[in-house]
Amino acid sequence: MTGCYALLHMVNIDEMKERLTAELALVERELKTVGRQNPDNPADWQPTPPVEDSAATEDDEVADKIEDFEQNTAILKQLEIQHTEITKALERIEKGTYGVCEVSGEAIEEDRLEANPSARTCKAHMGEESALNN
Ligand SMILES: [Zn+2]
Repeated sequence: MTGCYALLHMVNIDEMKERLTAELALVERELKTVGRQNPDNPADWQPTPPVEDSAATEDDEVADKIEDFEQNTAILKQLEIQHTEITKALERIEKGTYGVCEVSGEAIEEDRLEANPSARTCKAHMGEESALNN
């Protein structure tokens, strides 16, 4: 038991872990629809390249494919961010630092964690969350 956990009697860590694990599986499933995992680095996802189709000689067909690829790239980027956040939240559970604000070191409010299980800051420091690195 760390000092931090004494503040967290309100949050059910096991339940959060379950939710995060389920969310991670969901994000991974979605990632596979727009990209593929780099075999040399499982943390790295690459957008699926547009299918080479010799029949697609019409300009608008080519434009469609490029548009699809750009859309996939944007979706993949978002999913990758979610994937990283969830993975890091699970790591914090393992390390015993889950639910502690990374700015102030105080316990993160229960309802904030309920709404966003991978939250890294308390409500007072929400605005600073995106500026945190790692
Ligand atoms: Zn804080």
